[in-house]
Amino acid sequence: MQWKHSLFLLVFVASACSTTRDIEPITTASAAMGPTPPSRPAIACSDGTSTIDSDFEGAAMAGCQVVGRGHYRLLIRQEDQKVTNCSAWYAFRVQAAEPAEVVVDLDYERCGHRYLPKIWVSDATSVQCEVGDAELEKDTRITRFVARQRTSCGTGASDVPSREAAWQQISPERFIVTGRGEGEIAQARLAIKAMPVPQIISSQELFLPADYDAWLSSLEAISDVTRSTLGRSLEGRAIESISFGGGGNSPREQLVVVGRQHPPEVTGAFALTAFTERLLEDDPLAQAFRARFETTIVPLLNPDGVARGHWRHSRGERDLNRDWGPFTQPETRLLRDKLEAIEIDPTRELRFFIDFHSTGYDVLYTLDKELVTNPAGFTDAWVTDYQARLPGYEVTEQPGHNPDSPVSKAWVYERFGVPTMTYEVGDETDRDLIRKIGRAAAEATMETMLNHHVTDE
Ligand SMILES: [Zn+2]
Repeated sequence: MQWKHSLFLLVFVASACSTTRDIEPITTASAAMGPTPPSRPAIACSDGTSTIDSDFEGAAMAGCQVVGRGHYRLLIRQEDQKVTNCSAWYAFRVQAAEPAEVVVDLDYERCGHRYLPKIWVSDATSVQCEVGDAELEKDTRITRFVARQRTSCGTGASDVPSREAAWQQISPERFIVTGRGEGEIAQARLAIKAMPVPQIISSQELFLPADYDAWLSSLEAISDVTRSTLGRSLEGRAIESISFGGGGNSPREQLVVVGRQHPPEVTGAFALTAFTERLLEDDPLAQAFRARFETTIVPLLNPDGVARGHWRHSRGERDLNRDWGPFTQPETRLLRDKLEAIEIDPTRELRFFIDFHSTGYDVLYTLDKELVTNPAGFTDAWVTDYQARLPGYEVTEQPGHNPDSPVSKAWVYERFGVPTMTYEVGDETDRDLIRKIGRAAAEATMETMLNHHVTDE
């Protein structure tokens, strides 16, 4: 098998910590599902038995040191000195010629630990066949992801899990956070069973530009969905949008949705995908909505930051959601231009704008209650409808507005006077619940937009 050959080559060349421009990347067991190369210098180190590296998209570690046999120390550092937000993102790959216990210390230069580690195995089927379900059960807290990936051994390619399905959370007894005190270096320690198949350990599930591409392709297959490229990021990655609905109405009323201004905010991305898919279903509510409204969705505004494993910034070293006003970055300018084009087009009228993010818990940042929007009373009706769709779930709303704040929600309201919302999803919110609330948000959006008519402008 080719990965074995590559692994031995890697171990031979990288006997100590070094950058790896001249080292062959590890070939994954499942090339179709394998990670793509990173866009910043990869790092690898090896104790001669196991190997740790960052040679794939979304990876992030600033240094790697072999402390002893089976013991590594990884330096976790933000992408540039101007980052002040504490979304300490890490993602690395572990592999060994023979199964081996490995201890990995994550040393945080600042901020400390935030994300519970998730594990992705490149070929989960073969791992389960190798170690057996019982052993896997002992080693990892089985989550919904595993429930979906369960396959019997040797049942063929059709049972290979999707990338999303293969993520598991690390078990609590294999993970500890230490050194959080004042002046201490924050540290998290993980115990990992390295195996011949590569495993990726990551802050959150990797949801990369290639995954968006696949997702957009699946939506494109739906009639009425138009996929287009708004432009390019600073590093030349496509910033794409899909639009659908509106028919021959005039004016074509508009819903505009954006996601992933902040690279680590994967749970917001999961909500955005569920939201989008709900709008595209074929029930009477979605049909009525699409008949009247045109929707434009820009799911990935910061593809460079996502590909490079950034904590916060774009490739231009800016927080994109603090750039609404200055518009120093190509990414924010593209979406501003899209919104401005709607404004000057006499056949189109912007009605509602939502920006998907992640934070410590689920919360809706809505506009201050004193503000007048057109249509009036929209946000209260939206929140009431949303809450009614989620019995047993408590919706948290935090209204506010600062007209000078360079965030999308404030800028779009100031510029167009329409209702705007920042939809925040908790980092560790249950993934099935995220789908549920994302769908409920879509239903609340459709119902409220259908029931509210604007006054003359
Ligand atoms: Zn954010």
